[in-house]
Amino acid sequence: MLPIIDSHAHMDFPEFDNDRDSLFEQMHRVGIKQLLIPAVSPDKWKKQIEIAKQYGCYYSLGIHPWSCEGVTPKDMRNLRALLERHKDDASLVAVGECGLDKLHKGNFVTQIELFRSQISLAKEFDLPLIMHAVKAHDEILKCLKTESPSRKGVVHGFYGGPQLARQYVNLGYKLGIGGQLLNDNAPKLQQTVVDLPLESFVLETDSPSMAPKSSRNNRNTPLILPNIIEKMADLQKKSAVLISEQMFFNVTQLFDL
Ligand SMILES: [Zn+2]
Repeated sequence: MLPIIDSHAHMDFPEFDNDRDSLFEQMHRVGIKQLLIPAVSPDKWKKQIEIAKQYGCYYSLGIHPWSCEGVTPKDMRNLRALLERHKDDASLVAVGECGLDKLHKGNFVTQIELFRSQISLAKEFDLPLIMHAVKAHDEILKCLKTESPSRKGVVHGFYGGPQLARQYVNLGYKLGIGGQLLNDNAPKLQQTVVDLPLESFVLETDSPSMAPKSSRNNRNTPLILPNIIEKMADLQKKSAVLISEQMFFNVTQLFDL
């Protein structure tokens, strides 16, 4: 069986400081052999890269829309310098997470500015984008139509229906499917997984957030990935092995792993 890869897990977050070792051990035991730690804000880059190195994970560099407040031109210069410094590091595989979130709209103008700068960085360093997209799909699609990086990227934590999904897929982007798929109140997302070809998706958990409703302590970990694979298999009427293989192929292709 091919290894399972979590394309989006914040394993550097303090929520995992107490049991990170044991979690990685448990993951390995169930076939989750790799994961990608996405960046969120300048003050977290250092620890993020350290954890990625310590556990042999892939990582991305960027600024999350929630962290746009207070980002200075110096932070953006530092981001560029870090990308430059790590550009020959095979573990650095994307720019992000970046994007737009209208539920945090106070700084929406800054969000657009920083999103566009990060699209430019993805082009400059020839990396794909990891995007956070909440209630701002029109704006994001508009940016991607005019200034898409050639390696494209992924809309992580995708929760929309087939029509929206197709707009991203038609532009060459993938959709990150996570624990929300396991919730009974996600019919739109489930329909997306039924309708779109398997090539459209990559697996993710967004740990430690986005815990499925069934989870006990409201903390999410990559250990739910086999459940997501089972659910996809169920929805697509295919075997879990086939889903797992296709997800491995998609993520390795997208990030050139
Ligand atoms: Zn995230």
